[in-house]
Amino acid sequence: MRGLWLSLLLALPMSACGQATDNPTQSVPIPSAQIGQDETVKQNTELKLDELNTIQIPAQPVYGCIGIIQQGGAVLCRTRPLQKVKIGRAANDFYYENADVNGEILIGFDRDEKRALIDLGLGDAYKYDYRFEARTYDVSHVEGLPPSQVGNYTEAQLAHIRASSARKKEGFASRAETMGFENGFIYPVENYRKTTNFGAYRTYNGNPGSPHMGVDMAAPTGTPIYAPADALVSMADDDLYFEGAMVLLDHGQGLISMYLHVSEVLVEPGQEVKQGDMIAKIGSRGRSTGPHLCWRLKWRNRALDPELLTRWPSD
Ligand SMILES: [Zn+2]
Repeated sequence: MRGLWLSLLLALPMSACGQATDNPTQSVPIPSAQIGQDETVKQNTELKLDELNTIQIPAQPVYGCIGIIQQGGAVLCRTRPLQKVKIGRAANDFYYENADVNGEILIGFDRDEKRALIDLGLGDAYKYDYRFEARTYDVSHVEGLPPSQVGNYTEAQLAHIRASSARKKEGFASRAETMGFENGFIYPVENYRKTTNFGAYRTYNGNPGSPHMGVDMAAPTGTPIYAPADALVSMADDDLYFEGAMVLLDHGQGLISMYLHVSEVLVEPGQEVKQGDMIAKIGSRGRSTGPHLCWRLKWRNRALDPELLTRWPSD
């Protein structure tokens, strides 16, 4: 992560860095192999390397936001530890959320977000006003679902749906104190055919449904699904009405990724997983017409595009 904030420092005009150059510096050793590779550090900065292969960085942390600024994306911002941060969609539509003990706070953008206002509480230089261009979303039709999956529910099915919702609510309430996402995601399936993009307008058996908030990745039943980043398993349930069997991975900062319709769950709630660990196998349970992974991502109650996290800026 240090490299990431360092590149942010390099990208900022010096005025935005406040008194960075006047502050005392600290020495942080970095491996000589890295120094050789990173030409930008040598050429474009006032940072000095000494004979001991240390790099001089300001003692004061670098404040600001980095990430993917578009609908379905997110930014990771850094401010003072536990600083109250203002997050809004308009001048009269905002709320506050505290940064963590390291001053970090993740902020996600919905599928249809038009604008995001962020105030890191450090003065005008650290107020952000992001305007989002509308993304173009596909239209996706799902045909051949049994009536029991499209609205004609029996009492028993309704009870199953309600019980499923209650358990999901618990899984989504998880707030792991990790930063598992900070170097981005890998794809959870190695060989797949993408059948639906994030955000697609959707119909079920010809009737309009809510937009599809995931990426559908078709592959044979039993195909391994891997954790895209380090996480805490906040839910692993094989008896959900619509999702069939689903795993939720809590990557920290309210970022939770979802794996739906799996044939086999290989993890347990409370378990810590590392990027690349096998967590489940592809299936077609619940509201599904063939073996595929429905991969979704939420930040608090907003739906993000999980594919964007594979393009997260990292060291
Ligand atoms: Zn899906």
